[in-house]
Amino acid sequence: MNQTAISKPTATPHVGLVCRYCGCRHFHTVYTRRRNDGIIRRKRCRNCGQAITTREKMV
Ligand SMILES: [Zn+2]
Repeated sequence: MNQTAISKPTATPHVGLVCRYCGCRHFHTVYTRRRNDGIIRRKRCRNCGQAITTREKMV
């Protein structure tokens, strides 16, 4: 069987986030919390392990 490998484009929301400690751009989200005025995301750098918090406003 000859199956063509389908590479699915990963739907990663790339916000242009850069780790300020090591400059790495790879994060994984620890948790997402909804608030009245937006969303708070806790992310952890894959390279150095520093946690950062981002806030996203909901319109
Ligand atoms: Zn880092």
